[in-house]
Amino acid sequence: MSAAPLVDRFARAITYLRLSVTDRCDLRCTYCMPERMTFLPRADVLSLEELHQLSLAFIARGVTKLRLTGGEPLVRRDMIDLVQALGRQLGEGGLKELTLTTNGTRLAEFAEPLRAAGVRRINVSLDTLDRARFAELARRDSLPQVLEGLAAAKAAGLKVKINAVALKGVNQDELPDLIAWAHGQGHDVTLIEVMPLGEIEEDRFDHYLPLDVVRRDLESRWTLAANAATTGGPARYVDVAETGGRLGFITPLTSNFCAGCNRVRVTATGQLYMCLGGEGRVDLRAALRSADPETELAAAFARAMGEKQERHAFAIDRRAAAPAVSRHMSTTGG
Ligand code: SAM
Repeated sequence: MSAAPLVDRFARAITYLRLSVTDRCDLRCTYCMPERMTFLPRADVLSLEELHQLSLAFIARGVTKLRLTGGEPLVRRDMIDLVQALGRQLGEGGLKELTLTTNGTRLAEFAEPLRAAGVRRINVSLDTLDRARFAELARRDSLPQVLEGLAAAKAAGLKVKINAVALKGVNQDELPDLIAWAHGQGHDVTLIEVMPLGEIEEDRFDHYLPLDVVRRDLESRWTLAANAATTGGPARYVDVAETGGRLGFITPLTSNFCAGCNRVRVTATGQLYMCLGGEGRVDLRAALRSADPETELAAAFARAMGEKQERHAFAIDRRAAAPAVSRHMSTTGG
């Protein structure tokens, strides 16, 4: 099937899809969601076949990189079947990269099957190496499983990037150790600023840590050399001379990277969000479940490209009565 490529009003070609396969998670990171999170009704979530069909529709329109995410993608029971089916699109099918973002708790079981299905690189979210701190931050005592998962990923030959949210008064003091440890393991690291997405129990402003502050601290310890590498994402990279590893910074709050945006996100219920930082969406599930999915999907994609906003406008502000975006990161897909 050939279809009109996805190009928005600002002539940005969309080649990268982040597809959420579930909004459920086995952790409850305090900055991400409340302990008693309301999850989507299961009946609203796309079936495995629908996720596959939708992915093929994106690939037919020029998407070459597909990241499975969530919630925690590896808690969805049939997840590995989807990875295997999508793995068959690698190469001649038009897909160049199939990857996922995970918290690592179930990687010990899934690292090998992921590699066998064609996954080569994964992102693992890890904010601290201190077990007590992890248990407090994630509200689950799961650091041992995550470390076991990381070891399994390494043994399976998966290239790992560690993503850590930088949090003032939580893990700020530990970031150099976390980076040095990860680089020692052969993993790249990316630091992320906390974003105002969805209601949580606390005020994110209390822990908001601008990455220019972190960068200055790291520069007082190490030699950071700009690295022009881009992986198609919003991170800017440096090489750390002393550790021999690569470090990325994702700065949605302190600097804007939207001009080079090449991606869109689809929730587990088939809602296409053109921007993580916006409310605009197009219902792909309705198109998929219509009498004429091909025509309806084409119309939905055209509408989405006409509506993709030029840039996000996050601000993190103690005075804000509500988060900038009402959806949690776990709903849109990280
Ligand atoms: N469960 C998977 C994981 O842990 O990577 C995928 C989904 S998770 C929502 C994706 C990433 O979003 C994680 O790195 C998490 O730390 C990050 N995240 C969650 N809420 C965030 C927020 N409000 N601001 C910035 N990053 C956030």
